[in-house]
Amino acid sequence: MVEKLLLHVLIILAPYLIFSILFENKKNKMVIFTISILNGVAACLVMFFPISSGELIFDLRYVPLVIATLYGGPVSGGIVLLMILFIRTIMGGDALLFGYIGTILGYLLPLILHRFFIKLVPKVRMGIAILVGVWPSIFNPFIIIIYHSNLGIPYSEYSKFMESFLILGAIQVIAIGFSAVLTETLIERSLMQEKIQTAEKLNTLGELAASIAHEVRNPLTVVKGFLQLLEQEETGKKREYLILVLNELGRAEVILNDYLNFAKPKLNNITEVSLHDVLQKIVQLLEPLANKEGVTIQFEHEGDFLLKTDRYQLKQALINIIKNAIEATPAGGYVTITTEGNESQVRLVIKDTGKGMSKEQLEHLGTVFYTTKDKGTGLGTMVSIRIIEEMKGKIEYSSKVGMGTKVIITLPVIKKSE
Ligand code: ADP
Ligand code: MG
Repeated sequence: MVEKLLLHVLIILAPYLIFSILFENKKNKMVIFTISILNGVAACLVMFFPISSGELIFDLRYVPLVIATLYGGPVSGGIVLLMILFIRTIMGGDALLFGYIGTILGYLLPLILHRFFIKLVPKVRMGIAILVGVWPSIFNPFIIIIYHSNLGIPYSEYSKFMESFLILGAIQVIAIGFSAVLTETLIERSLMQEKIQTAEKLNTLGELAASIAHEVRNPLTVVKGFLQLLEQEETGKKREYLILVLNELGRAEVILNDYLNFAKPKLNNITEVSLHDVLQKIVQLLEPLANKEGVTIQFEHEGDFLLKTDRYQLKQALINIIKNAIEATPAGGYVTITTEGNESQVRLVIKDTGKGMSKEQLEHLGTVFYTTKDKGTGLGTMVSIRIIEEMKGKIEYSSKVGMGTKVIITLPVIKKSE
């Protein structure tokens, strides 16, 4: 009996093995259907090697039936049901009618539960599958009693194998639990595969968008150049309009550049870069903006740090952050840039005395298109974060509303000089 039981367990689990080998790339919807058909075949096979007890036979046919119906609904379960009924008919015997009743009862409860079952989370589903697995062990003893009393056999005669039927029922419950776990694994895997496919599609889409942005930027530059020429010649109202157009064109250009950088922060041109040099240039570049806003930029440094990285990208990343600091700071405020570190790492701190950010704002900061400015793009910070990460560095924001913001950037260094 033990050998047969083991054989049953093997047959019941075989569909999952076969599925993994043959049907790995099935669409999610087809997963349950396919596994149900395989389960039906397993149910039929199991019936050919019954464990018999007196007149009645026992097998694990309820396992595939319950799982296929719970997960797959009327059609998938129905196919398994018909397969079982067909084989049961071929096998015939006195208890045929009871076999029919038992199988249909085994199909009904999972069928009723299917609709709400399928909406639950995997863990709960596995628990419910096990509970439903108890169901055949509840009605089967009644079927046995009715069958035997119909034949006029006294209870004492067949009560002995009732016990073993209950034990077998327990094993059936365990087998249903196993099947449920395996089914959940298959579902999860196919969901994962779908997600990977969507991610790949999005990736391609992103690349497409990047190449379009790239193509659009070139004619834009030409248009801007000619408009600048026109602007110098025009006077009065027309000139005002042209300035307006040029401003908007400039904005479009910034968005395109930011987007391109966001889509692909590639470090192409790796050279030895002096951090001091880069910061000096950025301060020079942003000084006019700071003056206009009435903000003082302070650059405090002891010595210099040599980095091995892409100069242009580093500049881009730091400009975004320092520009944000200036824009956040009211007239009379300060933006302070300091560097400190050792032979392997530099800590670059950009501190402002600006309006600061709340907790919610800080959380939004890393997301695309988050901006609180009328003419903001909400791309700058994203780009900076991505570039710094690409450089194997770290970036941390801390901020208090009304007090200011502190950005700490840590970058790998190849040499420190005094
Ligand atoms: P943009 O500058 O175009 O708005 P960013 O991605 O550079 O886009 O910044 C997103 C938002 O983060 C800003 O609109 C601003 O609200 C906030 N922010 C960034 N840096 C600071 C800072 N130093 N102080 C206060 N707010 C900041
Ligand atoms: Mg910005």
